[in-house]
Amino acid sequence: VTETTTATPQLGGPAGEPEAAAPRKLIKELEVMVAEVVVETHDAATLVLFTGNDRLRYEPGHFLTIDPHQFEALERFTDYFEEVKGRREPARAYSLASAPHERYLAITVKEERYQRGVTRYPPLLSPLLVKRTTRGMRLQVVGFTGPYVLPARVEDRTDHLVHLVAGSGAVPNFSILKHALRDHPRLRHTFVYSNKTRRDVIFAEPLRELARAYPDRLRVVHTLTRETSPSPAQRGRAGEGAPSGVPELRYGRITPALLRELIPDPTACLVYACGPGIGPWEKLAARERGEAPQPRFLEAAMAALRELGVPRDRIKRESYG
Ligand SMILES: Cc1cc2nc3c(=O)[nH]c(=O)nc-3n(C[C@H](O)[C@H](O)[C@H](O)COP(=O)(O)OP(=O)(O)OC[C@H]3O[C@@H](n4cnc5c(N)ncnc54)[C@H](O)[C@@H]3O)c2cc1C
Repeated sequence: VTETTTATPQLGGPAGEPEAAAPRKLIKELEVMVAEVVVETHDAATLVLFTGNDRLRYEPGHFLTIDPHQFEALERFTDYFEEVKGRREPARAYSLASAPHERYLAITVKEERYQRGVTRYPPLLSPLLVKRTTRGMRLQVVGFTGPYVLPARVEDRTDHLVHLVAGSGAVPNFSILKHALRDHPRLRHTFVYSNKTRRDVIFAEPLRELARAYPDRLRVVHTLTRETSPSPAQRGRAGEGAPSGVPELRYGRITPALLRELIPDPTACLVYACGPGIGPWEKLAARERGEAPQPRFLEAAMAALRELGVPRDRIKRESYG
């Protein structure tokens, strides 16, 4: 492992501002080896990273960054994008899917897609990480940092952590969940996970196992936005009343009504919300069209939490926009 101490990496926004307000602190550049590639879904993979024998210090919720310039296979795309976008391609951030007590470091990446008429450029790095990374490959990563972490003495603040996540937004919460179930025995968790369809759900099996292992402390609720329930009468309610220890299934988007049911203690819980939000490029594109940007998962979740009366200082959010 090569370790070099550097400052917080710069992530990309149109004005070069970091996408996540990472605190400035000293972090390390590491050379890691891909020990395993776990295919999670049709468009997501977990890269298990071998870092040598050192115990790495990070907090659940932290991310690392990967600079696309290190990949020869991307050279022509990086050069071309830098020419047409008129700026250097920044390092991309990936939350750690692993928890500090686990032996290996892991990240889970979901492949971004190019959508004609919607996205301006094809995505650069995520397709390579998900579809072209093999065991034994070496990567330079910079880590670990990020503000999306548990507060000190979390059990003094709450006994209920609500995870409100969508797509790859489940990654940092999965790390926080594994850590907290083990190290904060007084915390209960409600893990509400939104995806388009069943086949998009990342960590379905480990979440099921955790729900089985901690039936009194973990409730997992999957919400599927583009699947319909077997019978219209069950719409939005399927899986309700499932025995504890079994993940529940609901249909439709996360609504204030659903959150009201799942969060009986809106002024006492702590909420960790992570997923797609309006990003700098959506803001820019909307401004060019003279429109307000369309709310995405995070904006909808924040509005629902506001309606429920969850105070702002009880909500942490991380946007993957
Ligand atoms: C703190 C944090 C943690 C994250 N953790 C994870 C994680 O755990 N797992 C995960 O899968 N993802 C995570 N992400 C998202 C990740 O960092 C990348 O954004 C994602 O993988 C896409 O990168 P890409 O290189 O494939 O796509 P990009 O090349 O960055 O493209 C993404 C989109 O931006 C648009 N775009 C890019 N440049 C421009 C431009 N100049 N003008 C207009 N539009 C542009 C593209 O058209 C495309 O639609 C995280 C993000 C943050 C901020």
